[in-house]
Amino acid sequence: MKKIGVLTSGGDSPGMNAAIRAVVRKSIFHDMEVYGIYNGYQGLIDGNIKKMEIGSVGDIIQRGGTILYTARSDEFRTEEGREKAIAQLKKFGIEGLIVIGGDGSFRGAEKLTQKGYPCIGVPGTIDNDIPGTDFTIGFDTALNTVIEAIDKIRDTATSHERTYVVEVMGRHAGDLALWAGLADGAESILIPEHADDFEDVIERLKRGKDRGKKHSIIVLAEGVGSGMDFGQRIKDATNLETRVTVLGHTQRGGSPTAADRVLASRLGAKAVDLLLEGKAGRVVGIQNNKLVDHDILEILDEEHQVDFQMYELSKQLSI
Ligand code: ADP
Repeated sequence: MKKIGVLTSGGDSPGMNAAIRAVVRKSIFHDMEVYGIYNGYQGLIDGNIKKMEIGSVGDIIQRGGTILYTARSDEFRTEEGREKAIAQLKKFGIEGLIVIGGDGSFRGAEKLTQKGYPCIGVPGTIDNDIPGTDFTIGFDTALNTVIEAIDKIRDTATSHERTYVVEVMGRHAGDLALWAGLADGAESILIPEHADDFEDVIERLKRGKDRGKKHSIIVLAEGVGSGMDFGQRIKDATNLETRVTVLGHTQRGGSPTAADRVLASRLGAKAVDLLLEGKAGRVVGIQNNKLVDHDILEILDEEHQVDFQMYELSKQLSI
C-alpha cells in the first residue's frame, strides 16, 4: 500500500488531532503518501482532499477539535453517494482509509471496505461507548473537564447549602456520568443503562438531610432525561433548594490530556500498521493496556457495556 487517506467523522473529540498526526507521521515514516480528507465522508464525496506532509500536522498534538474538520453526511448513507466517494478515491489513487470517529462512522467504513477499499476505524468519541476498547480517544479529557466543573459547582453548593443536578453528555452511554460521579464523590449518579433510579435519589437526599447533610451533587447523563425537569422533580419531592447546570459542549473541547494524546498516538499508528499488513475492516483499541484490533462488524454487533461494579461501588461510597 502506497497511498492512504485519513478522515475524522461524526462528533469531534479532544485527541483527534493527535491521532491524525500519528497517522500522517507513521505513514510518511513508512514511505507512504497520506491524504487528509476534510469534512468527513462529505469531503470525500466532494473531493475535499489534500496531500499531507510532515509539517501539515506540526503543532496540533495539544489542540482540541480536528484540523480535518468533521461532518455528518446523509449523502454518504446512499449507494450513489458512496459511488461518488469511491470515484474520488480512484482519482487520487488512495488505496486504504483510516476513519477516526464513532460507531456511525465505522458503519460507513465497513461499506467502503466491502467495496474493496480497506478501512481501519480508530475510536474517537467522548462517550467511551465503542466495544472492544477500554477507552476511546477524548473520554479522559471530557472526564477531566467535567470533574473540574463539578469541583467548582461543589464549592458554591457547599456555600449556599444547595442540591445541584449536573447534566453531562451521554445519550446512550453512562460512562462519562459514572466516572465523573465516582471521581467527584457525587451523592447520586443517573445513567441511561440504569435509568429507573429516581426514587433512590430522593431516598438518598432525604437520608442525607436527616443526617444534617446540607448539600448534594447529582450527576445525570443526558440520555436519562432533561436536567431541568429532573431538578424540578427533586425540588417538588424534597423541598430542597435545587439548581441545575447543563455542561453542554464544553465537554467536547479543550486541549487533550496526556492520556488522550498517548492513546491517540498509539491507536493512530496501529491503524497504519494494520493497513500495511494488508488488514481491512478492523477497529483498533486498547484492552488491558495492550493494543488490539477487532472486526468492524463484530464491534457494530456488540453493545457497549457500562461497568456495573463501578456503579455499585459509587453507591457504596456515597451512602
Ligand atoms: P459517529 O461516528 O460519531 O457515531 P454518526 O453516527 O453521525 O457519528 O456517523 C457519522 C457519519 O457516518 C454519518 O453522517 C454518515 O455519513 C456515516 N454513516 C453512518 N451510518 C452509516 C451507514 N449505515 N452507512 C453509511 N454511512 C454511514
